[in-house]
Formats: sequence, C-alpha cells, structure tokens
Amino acid sequence: MKLVDLTGKKGLVVGIANADSIAYGCAKMFHDCGADIAVTYLNEKSEKYVRPLAESLNSPIIVPCDVSIPGQLEAVFTEIEQKWGKLDFVLHSIAFAPRDDLHGRVVDCSQEGFSMAMDISCHSFIRMAKLAEPLMIDGGCLLTMSYFGAEKVVADYNIMGPVKAALESTARYLAAELGPKGIRVNSVSPGPLKTRAASGIAHFDELMEKAAARAPERHLVTIEDVGALAAFLVSDAAKSLTGNRSYIDAGYHIIGS
Ligand code: NAD
Repeated sequence: MKLVDLTGKKGLVVGIANADSIAYGCAKMFHDCGADIAVTYLNEKSEKYVRPLAESLNSPIIVPCDVSIPGQLEAVFTEIEQKWGKLDFVLHSIAFAPRDDLHGRVVDCSQEGFSMAMDISCHSFIRMAKLAEPLMIDGGCLLTMSYFGAEKVVADYNIMGPVKAALESTARYLAAELGPKGIRVNSVSPGPLKTRAASGIAHFDELMEKAAARAPERHLVTIEDVGALAAFLVSDAAKSLTGNRSYIDAGYHIIGS
C-alpha cells in the first residue's frame, strides 16, 4: 500500500549525490508513491553515481545542475516546462560552505565564504521558487532541508547555523507570498544522518552518538524516515500545511538538557 498517493504528480529533486543522500530517500519515496521525478546531478563526476539511481526511479528528466553556474538552474526548469508543462513539487536538498569557514568560528567567517554558503544553501531556494511559480499551475509544494543548528547553537555546525536560520525564515516568507496561489512552502529538519555533506562537519560521529543517546526515541533517523515525511508534505493530504518547520529527529529537539 502506498504511504500517500502522488499519482500524476510531477516533482523536481535537487540534491542527490549518492544512495546515502537525504534527497535520494525522498526521491525514492516520491516514486514509490506514484510521482514522476526529475533529478539533477552536480557535475560530470557525480553523474556516474546519480544517473543509475535516477534511472532506477524511471526519471524521465536527468540533468546537470550546479546552482553556482549561471544558467544551469534555469535550464532545468526549461527542460521541465518543455517535457511536462507543469510542476507539482520541488525538493531543495543542497548545502555548501567552504571548508575553512565551515570549520572555523562564526566570528571568523570570511565575507566570501559567507556569501557562497548563503548563495548555494539559501538563495538557490528563492531562485527555485521563482522558477517553479509559473509552472505550479495547479498549486504546489516547495520543500527545503534544514537542521536544528538553525535554532540552537550546535557545536561544530558553525556558519551553517545562521545559513539554515536564513533558509527557514526564507521558507516562511515564501509561504506567505505564494500561499494565495496554492503553493505551500515548508522546511524539514532531520536529525543527523551519515551523508557526504555531513562528513564535512567536524566531530560528526560524536553528534550522531549524542543524538541517538538523547533523543526520546533513542535512535537515529533514516533517509526513509525523511522520505516518508517529505512524501506526506508534498501530497494533497498536507494541503493546509504551509510555512511549517517539521522536525524528524526522534524527538531530539524537545530535550533541554
Ligand atoms: P549530500 O552530500 O548527500 O547532499 C548534499 C547535496 O548538495 C549534494 O547532492 C551536492 O551535490 C549538493 N550541492 C552542493 N553544492 C551544490 C551546488 N553548487 N549546486 C547544486 N547542488 C549542490 O548530503 P545530505 O546530508 O543529504 O544533505 C542534503 C541537505 O540536508 C543539506 O541541505 C543538508 O544541510 C541537510 N541536512 C543534512 C543533515 C545530515 O545530518 N546529513 C541533517 C539535517 C539537514
């Protein structure tokens, strides 16, 4: 039985690097629920990992997208417009910060590193919303991936904390602006998962151990857990849910000390 019915819906998933990616867990669940999925890969190097995964989901659109290369994101939406003429949902699951800035104190973050982190991890979501708006003729849903470090100071999360805070706020403003058009915007805040992006954060194993030990449910989350939440959020079952930040972290965020 399908978790939710996404039959006939068309979605764009940006952020699959490999089979461990949160975006892959979401894309697989979208597909299992009946949606057609367009998938992007960062560059030629990552194509060999992403293409087989996208093909296993029968993705009719598999295209490159590095949001920092002028025109590439626009080309993705042009392809969608030509093939589908519409779009029902977008999953934005990308983040980047230069290593030195990510590993240093927020106090020491360079202007260049801050701009790059904000541009790739946050402003790209605004650009996706703008490009998706005219294609979401039946309304739609935009999702982005955040983290608890947006709200509370998490050791070693450093500059990504302020960047995710901006991303969550962006999602709320987009939700307010696009709501009248039937376009919902939500952020999802998963607990720590062992992915390639996570390996760039110092002492990540300790963060995972702490999360598993302190979360009320005493376990880590999986990309399938995140996928299930994402599938619900883009489905018609969530039609009155917008501007929300949904934690999926086995309850970790409610623990004070
Ligand atoms: P991941 O490495 O699998 O995915 C990160 C993706 O970002 C990759 O596909 C990469 O290609 C993409 N990316 C980076 N720079 C890009 C650019 N210039 N243009 C286009 N794509 C670019 O790691 P993940 O953990 O699945 O990360 C996905 C999202 O989830 C990120 O926003 C991350 O901050 C967030 N998140 C991760 C965790 C975790 O513990 N792993 C927890 C909460 C939130």
